[in-house]
Amino acid sequence: MTTPDSSQSSDFIRTIISEDLRAKKNDGRLVTRFPPEPNGYLHIGHAKSIFLNFGVASEHQGGICNLRFDDTNPSKEDTKYVEAIKEDVKWLGVDWNDRIFYASDYFDTLYNYAILLIKKSKAYVDSLSAEEIRAYRGTLTEPGKNSPWRDRSIEENLTLFERMRAGEFDEGTHVLRTKIDMASLNMNMRDPTLYRIRKVPHHRTGNKWHIYPMYDFTHCLSDSIEGVTHSLCTLEFQDHRPLYDWVLDELGVENHPQQIEFARLNISYTVLSKRVLHELVDRGNVSGWDDPRMPTLHGLRRRGYTAKSIRSFCDRIGVAKRDAVVDMALLEHSAREDLNHHAPRVMAVLRPLRLVIENYPEDQDEELDAPNHPNDETMGIRKIPFSRILYIEQDDFCETPPKKFFRLAPGREVRLRYAYLITCIGVVKDEQSGKIIELRCTYDPTTRGGSAPDGRKVKATVHWVSSIHSLQAEVRLYDHLFTTPTPKITNDGKDFTSNLNPRSLETLQDARVEPSLKSAVPGTHYQFERHAYFCVDRVDSSDNALVFNRTVALRDTWSKAQQTKTKIAGK
Ligand code: ATP
Ligand code: MG
Repeated sequence: MTTPDSSQSSDFIRTIISEDLRAKKNDGRLVTRFPPEPNGYLHIGHAKSIFLNFGVASEHQGGICNLRFDDTNPSKEDTKYVEAIKEDVKWLGVDWNDRIFYASDYFDTLYNYAILLIKKSKAYVDSLSAEEIRAYRGTLTEPGKNSPWRDRSIEENLTLFERMRAGEFDEGTHVLRTKIDMASLNMNMRDPTLYRIRKVPHHRTGNKWHIYPMYDFTHCLSDSIEGVTHSLCTLEFQDHRPLYDWVLDELGVENHPQQIEFARLNISYTVLSKRVLHELVDRGNVSGWDDPRMPTLHGLRRRGYTAKSIRSFCDRIGVAKRDAVVDMALLEHSAREDLNHHAPRVMAVLRPLRLVIENYPEDQDEELDAPNHPNDETMGIRKIPFSRILYIEQDDFCETPPKKFFRLAPGREVRLRYAYLITCIGVVKDEQSGKIIELRCTYDPTTRGGSAPDGRKVKATVHWVSSIHSLQAEVRLYDHLFTTPTPKITNDGKDFTSNLNPRSLETLQDARVEPSLKSAVPGTHYQFERHAYFCVDRVDSSDNALVFNRTVALRDTWSKAQQTKTKIAGK
């Protein structure tokens, strides 16, 4: 696990860019881009890339950042993903202005570039099968072999490539490859494929194309076409950089961006790979891309994470050159820190236990004052109804309390938050099961507001709601999606189920919440006092059926760990 430095304000990429600008490289221009492939929803790793690319551009006068859809694989891409990605980028508070681009808009240009490579004898049509191509490629320790089709004439290559484009051949019969070096130590340089035949309609170009360019060919040229100066990508592209440069050099383009790699974001107890997230959705392990357990931006938002907390998390982790795993507790800490400022406090009882106050008149009720925020008076005070029959949390009572249990127990007095001191005088049990079904209590009418005029103290304060005034609600308690900090995933991304957490969601149907939540607006954040931060579910909640998602618990394991560290360091 890394311990990111929260004071980190610059990083090696920002240093490179500042130096380039100072040296008037690229005529003093700065252009970056965020290039998602529209084949799934964005996850928080993408947020890191978005904040980096758009952030860096905004820090320099005249700097610009493009949102570019890298849409070269029609079989996996869809307009619905394009729309979801745009929505997420906007939600993060990032504005691409009118700088939105699609690699598919460059298909004609890319085709012409491919012809140029053929004419330079730097590309050829290969008619080996996919399997043969793999076998000819060699291994990390053995060089590859030249394809028997490598020496086709330029004319033959041009004709075949044109016929590929016209849709005359079946998928898998031919590909266009570069002619680089089958013995290169870098496997990516062993005549990589530039174009393959795909008889699939594209979500933007329809049936116009029967061949589609590969990522490595498309990406560098799209960057170049858009005048990108710094092409920031994750570390797995380091070995592709020679190819990025080779394509641009061979074609002699005017604008040759600099590719710079940084470490991708990994977070413990989850997986940041679209492929795996796709599997989770497809197999029904989660309810969809926006399932609140998902590390997608749609999921995090539905769970109750704010854009601000995701931004501050990304600021904290910084940008580094080496891969590492960031502790999930830091993401949770960022959410808590933000929500603590603005989430109104309310009382909710998740697992209700009935409590009857024997000396409180049956036909009486009253309203008590409760602050909406303990440290922010501007958030005001609300009225909460109090009556003879209440609910408290089952956990807040213990018939035979152990030593350190200070909450309610037979014969013991505790405080009801914002209300009165009460004493438990009896317990009612179900005759058959022996389960406690009701507590009998008395209250001290002189303690309104929660303190005794004679100065006597109690050791615990518990929250409550009034039985007749409270509302039924469904509460969804979320936990980590995986049971281990670094889930094991097979190379094909298909097998990860052994590490899935079977208890990642617990649904409580019979929670009771205070009446102020009657028309709680979907997406609103609350702190359920003594429990956690919750968010009104955007999808399933309505005035008639309240649903709350637990965003993050109140207990802060991150800052606790930080405090311990500081103490140790200070010793
Ligand atoms: P995944 O590996 O999750 O499928 P991807 O790289 O295929 O992601 P793209 O849509 O191609 O997804 O990514 C768009 C941009 O976001 C790329 O520049 C990529 O490097 C960056 N990116 C993807 N995942 C991460 C991550 N975990 N941390 C930082 N940046 C990331
Ligand atoms: Mg990718």
